[in-house]
Order: sequence, then C-alpha cells, then structure tokens
Amino acid sequence: MLFDVITIFPQFFDSPLSVGFLKRALDKKIIEVRITDLRDFTTDRHRTVDDRPFGGGRGMVLKPEPIFKAVEAVRHSEDEGRTAVILLSPQGKPFGQQEAERLSKKEQIILICGRYEGVDERVRQQLITEEISIGDYVLAGGDLPALVVMEAVTRLLPSAVGSPQSLIDESFCQGILDFPCYTRPASFRGMRVPEVLLMGNHQEIKRWRKRKALENTLRKRPNLLGRAQLDSEAVKMLAKLKGELNLSSK
Ligand code: SAM
Repeated sequence: MLFDVITIFPQFFDSPLSVGFLKRALDKKIIEVRITDLRDFTTDRHRTVDDRPFGGGRGMVLKPEPIFKAVEAVRHSEDEGRTAVILLSPQGKPFGQQEAERLSKKEQIILICGRYEGVDERVRQQLITEEISIGDYVLAGGDLPALVVMEAVTRLLPSAVGSPQSLIDESFCQGILDFPCYTRPASFRGMRVPEVLLMGNHQEIKRWRKRKALENTLRKRPNLLGRAQLDSEAVKMLAKLKGELNLSSK
C-alpha cells in the first residue's frame, strides 16, 4: 500500500511516522509513505499555494494548479479501483471502520490536506475520487485527518497487527464494541478482576466476553445494535441484558 500525502507542512508527519505503529509498518514494508510538499508545485518565487477568494470574504483558499500538478505527479493509475484520490474535508463522507476496510483494498491512496478556508472547488469537481471527514468538527488542516485515515487503513493490512484475532474482536469489526480488558494485578485498590477471567475456562471466558461486548454496546452505543450481525446466542444474550439493565426503551 502506497500512501501519498500532499501537504503544505511536510514536517507535520516527521514524528508520527518515526515512532510506534506506523513506523513499524514502514520498517516491515507493509506500507510506503511519500510526503509531497505542495509548494514544490508552484511556479512563483514566493512558492504561493493560496489566494483570496473570488467574491470577497474571509480567509485564503488553496489554489487549484499546485494541487492538480501534485496529484498528477504522484498518481500511479487513473483506475479508481486501484488509486483513491481523497480530499480531507469536514464536508466529506464520515470516516468509519467500513471506509477503512474499503480503502485497505486499494494499491495507492493519495491524501490531499486542506488548510485555511479549504481548497478551490475545482479540486472537488475534477480531481478527487472521494471526500472524507473524520468528524463533525472543524480542524485547522487536513494533516491530522490524513494520519487518522493512514493508521486506520494500515491496521487492516496483512501482518500489520501482531495478532489477527485482535482485529476481529475489537470495536466496530463485528458491528459492536469491544469487551473490557484487565491485566495484572488481579486485585488493585479494592477492585478485583472478574473471577471468570482467572479460572482458565476458555469457553466460559469467551461467553463472558461476548456478553460484556454486547453490554458495552448497549450502554454506550445502542445505535450500533440495529445494524450489527449477531448470531443466535448473541441475540438471546442481548434480550436478557435488556431486561436486566432495563435499557430496552433507551
Ligand atoms: N471552510 C471549510 C469548511 O467549513 O468546510 C473548513 C476549512 S478547515 C479550517 C481547513 C482544512 O482542514 C480543510 O480543508 C480540511 O482539509 C481540514 N479539515 C478540517 N476539519 C476536518 C474534518 N473534520 N475532517 C477532515 N478534514 C478536515
């Protein structure tokens, strides 16, 4: 998987790519990341990437020419199935696990990081294949969102995560939230780890985790349960939990 990031702040990516998960994925050659400075695609002496909006009003807008040229320089394929050209934008499609899964099948992902008031509308009209938002709030730039997309997609690539089972178990992968986790010590400040986790009965542990994952979802994100693919055991557990927790009408 090749990520191409187009930004006016290449140095923004130095630290996130030099520690932790993304660094390991780079070292293992699971991903390649190329950071492109938008200013390299300007033609004037001041390397100008922005200009005032037509019609007046606040702020500056990223000019179309450098963005078109930068994308054309890094793009490997015109085939949308292979190369995604993504504009990070608060107006985009909300980014979730399903989008991450879809994008993990691409060969190249080009991430255009906006700044200021955003990008010239013609970038949306002709250059990109999709517009992605990481949430209903406005950030100063698309660089953090680009890192969010990169990390979420990379976690889904073969061998990127140590234990493939953790990808199946964790939140959203099966449409519900993850179960609670504990580690040593078994007793901490009067709080004891649930006995079932200490007994070594794997069937019982599996059932407990399933029930707790459902309980977590019911308490924190009940809206997910409508779309979740639950097996018959989970459906029964959920009905029982709703009765016990008296949450059925919430
Ligand atoms: N005026 C724009 C609007 O209201 O749609 C917001 C511009 S914002 C200050 C500057 C840049 O930050 C955007 O072009 C985009 O690249 C990025 N950005 C801000 N919030 C974002 C979000 N929630 N998701 C993805 N990108 C975002």
